[in-house]
Amino acid sequence: MNRRQREELMRKRKIATAVILMVIIIAAAGIIWGIVALVRHSRGGSDKPQHNSQVTQTAQSGQNETQAAGSVTQTMTADTVAHTTDDVTRVTPPADMTESSEGTAVPQETASVADVPPVTSAVTASAAHSEDENTDRTFTTSKGFTGYVKDGVTYIDGYLLVNKTYSLPSTYVPQNPDVPVTASWSTTSLDKDLMDAWRTMKQDADALGLNLVLSSGYRSYSTQVTLYNRYVAQDGKAAADTYSARAGYSEHQSGLCFDLNSIEDSFQYTDEGKWVNDNAYKYGFTIRFPKGKESYTGYQYESWHLRYVGKDLAQKLYNNGDWLSLEEYFGVTSEYKD
Ligand SMILES: [Zn+2]
Repeated sequence: MNRRQREELMRKRKIATAVILMVIIIAAAGIIWGIVALVRHSRGGSDKPQHNSQVTQTAQSGQNETQAAGSVTQTMTADTVAHTTDDVTRVTPPADMTESSEGTAVPQETASVADVPPVTSAVTASAAHSEDENTDRTFTTSKGFTGYVKDGVTYIDGYLLVNKTYSLPSTYVPQNPDVPVTASWSTTSLDKDLMDAWRTMKQDADALGLNLVLSSGYRSYSTQVTLYNRYVAQDGKAAADTYSARAGYSEHQSGLCFDLNSIEDSFQYTDEGKWVNDNAYKYGFTIRFPKGKESYTGYQYESWHLRYVGKDLAQKLYNNGDWLSLEEYFGVTSEYKD
């Protein structure tokens, strides 16, 4: 073997060594990534139900959304089906409660960026009617909106409201579901108007090459009991209360909201998350727990949780990109009593 041949051999050996090293590094990175993903999934986080693996499958396939309900459905009893023709997103107040609004429920133009109330004014407003939030009654919010409670359900300016102050009865199910409620967990038994708006939004997103997936929708009272208790066992009550609702206090029980895609904080940075933040209002959806509004909503920012309110209110809440929460717009609180 001459010198040139030796050098050639050495060069080949170096290349082979480099290739082997690269393969080892890539494999190691893959393993670390896998472990990190596993740990994150087992921690849960946010308000998502714990069928992560199934939700992920759904997100990838973009279909067969009902599959994700499987694990929960098996352990829960099906709720009764409720059929009415009411538009639950904008319910006309009962005859005995219509004095001023006459059921027209015209949104008042009082809320704007300029007069966003300090948190303290909202707190004061709640103190005035905190004795029993679930008794049938009417009240006026600190922003001058008319609220009323009927059969344990609270409506402000005609819009159903669920938060830490205003709960739903344990028996409440979506009142105008697109598909009859037969399971404790469903991405189809949501409000009809919401589903129409969702299908349009999904279609427009598809046309832009964006993949939106409805990952979590209706959840029954009993489902929320299971979820919340799991989070409390995992992170403690105080922490759980910042990202998961107690049973009866979850908007998911109303059938008027859903969670998109990964149900993770990272959603806000995806093309889908950015588009949703900028366009959801055009379809009548609002970012229910906007960034920096924890003091109003009582919850961390959730880029993936959309509430259907119709286009008029959604446009107001969008507020030219500086999302307002329902609580600050209406002038109501979101605080547990204990
Ligand atoms: Zn949610």
